[in-house]
Amino acid sequence: MDKFSRAQLSSCRRVLIKIGSQALSTGLGLNNRMIERLCDELSLLRDQGREFALVSSGAIAQGKCIMKIADPAIALSKKQALAAIGQGSLIRAYTDAFRRYGYTAAQILITRDDLDDRHRYLNIRNTFTALFELGAIPIVNENDTVSVDEIQFTDNDMLSAMIIPLVEPHALIILTDTEGVYLDDPRANPEAQFLSEIRDFKAKEIRTSGGAGALGRGGMESKIKAASHASMLGIPTVIASAYTPNVISRVLRGEVVGTLVHPRKRSSRLKQKDHWISFVTRPKGRVVVDRGAAKAILDNGRSLLPVGVVGVEGMFRAGDPIEIADRPGEVIAVGLSNFSNEEILKVKGANSSQVCSILEKECDEEVVHRNNMILRKETGQ
Ligand code: GLU
Repeated sequence: MDKFSRAQLSSCRRVLIKIGSQALSTGLGLNNRMIERLCDELSLLRDQGREFALVSSGAIAQGKCIMKIADPAIALSKKQALAAIGQGSLIRAYTDAFRRYGYTAAQILITRDDLDDRHRYLNIRNTFTALFELGAIPIVNENDTVSVDEIQFTDNDMLSAMIIPLVEPHALIILTDTEGVYLDDPRANPEAQFLSEIRDFKAKEIRTSGGAGALGRGGMESKIKAASHASMLGIPTVIASAYTPNVISRVLRGEVVGTLVHPRKRSSRLKQKDHWISFVTRPKGRVVVDRGAAKAILDNGRSLLPVGVVGVEGMFRAGDPIEIADRPGEVIAVGLSNFSNEEILKVKGANSSQVCSILEKECDEEVVHRNNMILRKETGQ
C-alpha cells in the first residue's frame, strides 16, 4: 500500500527538475540545443497539465565563456563576478525558449541565508505558490554573486533538496551527465554496477563515484544526498542523464530510465518543519545536557527541561534553532529554544516550577519542547 512504483510517477503533477552546469555548457558557451530541448519538452508536458520548477546551474560556466576564462582555479570573488555576468544570459536563454511555446520563465535567486530565518523561508514559499498560480515556470539558481563561502549551499543539488518544501513538488528529477547511479565510475570502469532503484538507504552508506565535472560543483554523492532529503520528505527522485532524448517525459511515464530513489514509508517521513529544523536552518548555539535528560529525550520522547541542562554555548534568542548535546559532546537532537542563551544560563539546573520566577516573566517550562525537537536518529544522521 505504502510501496512506491515507477508507474506512480505518471500522476506526479508538479515536478522539480535540477540540471547541472556540465549539461548546460559546451565549454564555449551555453548549450543552446540542450536548453531548447528542455524547454520544448517541459512546455509539451506543461500543455498536458504538469507544473515545473527548474533549478538551473550554469551561471558561472557561462560567465567564464563570455569572459574567455579557461583556468578552473578561480577565486571566490571572481566566481561571484562571473556568476553576475553569466546569470543574465542563462535566464535570457530560458525566457526566450519558453516564450516561443507561450510560457513565462521567472528567475528566483536564493542564498543559504534566505532560508535560515523561518519567516523569510515561508515568504519564499508564498512566491513559488504565486508563480505557479500565474502559470509561470520558476527558474532557480543560487545567488552566487552575494554568497560567500560560509553561507553557500554546497551546490545546486543541495539547493534543490532545501527548497522541496517551498516548491512542494510530487517528484524530483536530477539531470546529470551519466545515466544514473553507478557503484563505481563508469568512465573508468565499464563493468561498474548500475543501480536502477535505491530504497531504504542512508546516503553516506552508498559508495558511489563520479566527482563534480569540470564545470559544476556537485558530484554523484551530493545528488544522492539531495535524493535522500526528498525521500525523507516522502518525495521520489529520479537521477537520469540530461542527454537521454525525452528523458523527463519518459521518467514521468514510469519508464525504467535513470535511478529511482524511493520515498520513505509514510510512517518514517519528516514533516516539512522538522526538515527545516534539521537541515535548512543552521544552529545558533548548543545546550549540553546530563545523562538523565539525554535518556529522557532519546528513550522516552520527552521535552528538554532546565533541570537537565548543564551547559550552554553560543549566543541565541528565544525561537532560534540550537543543538542538544550529551556530556561527551555528541549532538543527540536539534530543536527550537524557548529561551535565549542568557536565560538558559540563569535557569539551568532549576526545577520547571521555578523558571518563571527566576526569569521574572511568564514563560514556557521547557527549554526545547518535544514538538520542536528532532532526534538525530530520526533523520538518520
Ligand atoms: N550556482 C552555480 C552556477 O550557476 C552552480 C553550482 C553547482 O554547480 O551546483 O554556476
